[in-house]
Amino acid sequence: MEPLPALTSLHCNSKLLKQASGVRCDGIVRLFIEKEEKEAVRGEIQITDYGISGIPVFQVSRHAVRALSQNQKVFCSLDFLPDYTEKDIFVLLRKKFFEGNALEDKLSLEDAVSGMVHKKLSGVVLKDIGYSPADGISSMKDKDLQKLSRAFKNFSFELTGYHSFDYGQVCQGGVDVREINAETMESKLVKGLYFAGELVDVDGICGGYNLQWAWSSGYKAGKAAIQ
Ligand SMILES: Cc1cc2nc3c(=O)[nH]c(=O)nc-3n(C[C@H](O)[C@H](O)[C@H](O)COP(=O)(O)OP(=O)(O)OC[C@H]3O[C@@H](n4cnc5c(N)ncnc54)[C@H](O)[C@@H]3O)c2cc1C
Repeated sequence: MEPLPALTSLHCNSKLLKQASGVRCDGIVRLFIEKEEKEAVRGEIQITDYGISGIPVFQVSRHAVRALSQNQKVFCSLDFLPDYTEKDIFVLLRKKFFEGNALEDKLSLEDAVSGMVHKKLSGVVLKDIGYSPADGISSMKDKDLQKLSRAFKNFSFELTGYHSFDYGQVCQGGVDVREINAETMESKLVKGLYFAGELVDVDGICGGYNLQWAWSSGYKAGKAAIQ
C-alpha cells in the first residue's frame, strides 16, 4: 500500500467553518466517503483556519487521507451537541425562544441560543442554514427551530486535503504484512531483511498503539536478526 500520513489534521474549503477558527469543543466527527458513513468518533474538535483537527479528527483521518488520495469525495459532518437528540434541542430552543421574556426583550437569534455552544460556533451554525445571528427571534416558527436543531447536530462540509507527513503522527501503508514472517519480522521475499514499526503496513488510532507496535516489532526483529 502506498505510504500516506495518518493521525493528521484535515482541510476543508468551508469559509463559514473557518469563521469559528480557534474554537475547541466536544462533538462527534462523522466521516462520509462517497456518501457512505465510514466512521464516527467523539472527542474534542479543534476548528482551525485550514479545517479541523484534534483527537477525533486524527482518529478518522486514515480513511479520509486514503480516500482523498484516490480522488474520492469525502465529507465530514460535525455534531456540536452530542449529548442531546434533535428533539431535546428543539424542546430547549422552544423554551429559550418562546418562554419567559425572550420575545418582549427582542432578543437576537445569537442571544437566544447563547450558552448552548461557543458564540462563534452558534453564529456559524445559524448562517449555515440561512439566518443572520443579529436577526430578531420574532419571526421564528417551530419549523425554523426544527431546522436549527438539525443544524446543531449536522454541520457538514467537503474535505479537500490533509496535513502532510511533516505533521501526521503516523504512517499508513508500507510493507504488506503478508510478506513478513510475524514471528521473526523477516521478509518472506528477501532473506536477512527485517522490518519493524512504521515501515510495515500497520497503524493504530491514538492511545499508544503505534509506539507499542514499534517496540514489540522492533524487539522481535532485533532478537531474530542476531540469532
Ligand atoms: C508528534 C507525534 C506524536 C506521537 N504520539 C504518539 C502517541 O502518543 N502514541 C503512540 O503510540 N504513537 C505516537 N506517535 C507515533 C510513534 O511515535 C511512531 O509510530 C513510532 O515512533 C514509530 O517508530 P519507528 O521505529 O517505526 O519509526 P521512528 O520512531 O520514526 O524511528 C525511525 C528512526 O530512523 C532514523 N532514520 C531515518 N532514516 C535513517 C537513515 N537513513 N539512517 C539511519 N537512521 C535513519 C530516524 O532518525 C529515526 O530515529 C507519535 C508521532 C508523532 C510524530
